[in-house]
Amino acid sequence: MIYFDYAATTPIDEEIINTYASLLRKYFANPSSNHILGSQVDSLQTRARQTIASFLHVDSEEVIFTAGASEANNLAIKGIAFKYANRGKHLITSSIEHHSVLNTFKQLEEFGFEVSYLPVNSDGVIELETLKEAIRPDTLLVSLMHVNNETGSINKIDKIGKYLKDNHPLVFFHSDMTQSLGKIPTNLEYVDLASMSAHKIYGFKGSGLLIKKKKIKLTPLISGGSQEFGYRAGTSNWPINVVLSKTIRLALESLDTNYTLVKGFNNQVREAIKLIDGMEINSPIDASPYILNIHLKNKKSAVIAGYFEQQGICVSTTSACSSKSEKYSHVINAMFNDQQRALSSIRISFSKYTKQEEVDCLIEVLKKATTATK
Ligand code: PMP
Repeated sequence: MIYFDYAATTPIDEEIINTYASLLRKYFANPSSNHILGSQVDSLQTRARQTIASFLHVDSEEVIFTAGASEANNLAIKGIAFKYANRGKHLITSSIEHHSVLNTFKQLEEFGFEVSYLPVNSDGVIELETLKEAIRPDTLLVSLMHVNNETGSINKIDKIGKYLKDNHPLVFFHSDMTQSLGKIPTNLEYVDLASMSAHKIYGFKGSGLLIKKKKIKLTPLISGGSQEFGYRAGTSNWPINVVLSKTIRLALESLDTNYTLVKGFNNQVREAIKLIDGMEINSPIDASPYILNIHLKNKKSAVIAGYFEQQGICVSTTSACSSKSEKYSHVINAMFNDQQRALSSIRISFSKYTKQEEVDCLIEVLKKATTATK
């Protein structure tokens, strides 16, 4: 099969598997143990935390290891909401967030919080003016994703964060950076909290990070021991955390090269689609090149994806996390206010492993897709 679903997950780099295996063969102790064996693994994890902090230009106390971005999103959003509930009960997010953000906010509504779900423009981007209008004196938190996982649309996180810092310094700003880390430049200067995941950048599933600026406190989701500065109790999965440092390093080192490669492939597919009747591109022109969302008029997403699979190609209907439960893409619907279009769109996603022959094959299948499917 040819894989074009790298936004759902990536294969793990050989180098990462080897490092992980050799760590497990050499060490097993609990980093919280006071003896020498505990200290050895504790220093490995501390070094990894410091290295990640230096890559992301934050302090090492600002790096909290989690089991992926869903957990990081939950910890950031619920953690702030519960810790600072006395300041205000109004929260802001957008209508195109990943379900680990959207459903966290839905849950907070059950706890008496009021949530504004901002609309996006037809590029799938939140406009600063829309945010400005939504902010109230009791607004506690704004959470807006950097790169959308279905369309690749890029929010102007720096501009929004700077606006908030300059005009609403008491409002916390969180960003889900799962689809941007290691793919496009990320800047944490103007965010208070950011979520990241290893398995989108050739690392392990169940591995991720919450970056939380020092001055901020959170109510933990898991109470217990003092691991992760008291924000996430439980014996550390230190080998996973140690290799996350290498995962991020490899992604950042090759960011420019991979971006150029993927952008080239993305452009080829875009050019091909322009010539195909009944097909149009949902992703804006300035989206992350890793993701290309396509509308096939009057076709059902599942039927198109099924046809691609018959032809030996894996693509995705909506995001992998919701493709089995959602009837149509909430992201495409939010962008175009068109349920029919949201039912008829697929996501193609590229990676550093994508080959020219695979792109050629994809284009051939795309050319046949509108006539071959009913
Ligand atoms: N946010 C976004 C934007 C994502 O694409 C994903 C992965 N589908 C997540 C959060 C959840 O990440 P994880 O699988 O690490 O929990």
